[in-house]
Amino acid sequence: MSVLIVGSTALDSIKTPKAENPRLLGGSASHAAVAASFFAPVKLVGVVGKDFPKRYVSLYRKHKIDLEGLQIVDGKTFHWSGEYEVNMNNRRTLETELGVFETFTPKLPAAYQDSSFVLLANIAPALQSHVLDQMRRPKFVVADTMDLWLNIALPDLLKLLKRVDGFVLNDSEARQLTKEDNLLVALKKIHKLGPKFVIVKKGEHGAILSTRDGLFLSPAFPLHRVVDPTGAGDSFVGGMMGYLSTANGPVEKNLRRAMIYGSVVASFCCEGFGLKFTTRITRKAIDERVKKLEWLARF
Ligand code: AMP
Repeated sequence: MSVLIVGSTALDSIKTPKAENPRLLGGSASHAAVAASFFAPVKLVGVVGKDFPKRYVSLYRKHKIDLEGLQIVDGKTFHWSGEYEVNMNNRRTLETELGVFETFTPKLPAAYQDSSFVLLANIAPALQSHVLDQMRRPKFVVADTMDLWLNIALPDLLKLLKRVDGFVLNDSEARQLTKEDNLLVALKKIHKLGPKFVIVKKGEHGAILSTRDGLFLSPAFPLHRVVDPTGAGDSFVGGMMGYLSTANGPVEKNLRRAMIYGSVVASFCCEGFGLKFTTRITRKAIDERVKKLEWLARF
């Protein structure tokens, strides 16, 4: 089974205390698609401008990502730049240039409309809904978001939440959305907005899954050296959806293990700038790290 992924397809300029890398392949959909591709075929929906480097198209192709839903239009590719503080956790957005995303309307090729697993990676919630409108009967739909949409498109996001199975957000976004400091109380409030499965990401401290059966605490893989955490959240959810789409049995049964796989792909993502490290790993390396993480979390 394949995973359909819509989100931003971007050029990222990233500054850390140690280095600066301009115009890397980035965007929520790019990170999620590469992460998912280690487990399942991926269908990508997005838009780039004519300035989008050909080598980045080749990189998608190397991961066998279906690009029929990637529009290449006149104009400039979405460009995002950000800067990390010394602790590598706090990040400041320096600039967001929407470029071709300003007029983007996702149009799903016929072959995409029957996809069972759908990841609405971070992008304007109205666009996420527009993709859902074109799907026939997806089996499992997960949406990701960011603080920007809570600030400028909350009504659209609330409409979307009524239509998704799963919702992924980070801890500060969960608190902002619910105006609740206690995460468990916040999770309860988010379930009331629609999603049956809610995942709160806590960066280097892992993630919490909440379902009607209770909670699961998913650890993050500890790293000695973090080079660039950009896209770790997208890699987490992409890896999770890729794994889920190929696992046998009901989603509820597989979700915990899927989160562990997502965590592991996210850890690789943090070890290089942009997608540089993630695009070099193998499924075998992922499986080995999952085993190590199982050992570390056992008691
Ligand atoms: P993360 O580190 O998981 O928060 O994701 C970082 C990615 O989000 C980068 O690759 C950016 O290109 C992308 N991004 C930043 N701002 C936006 C935005 N407003 N809409 C969609 N994607 C964005």
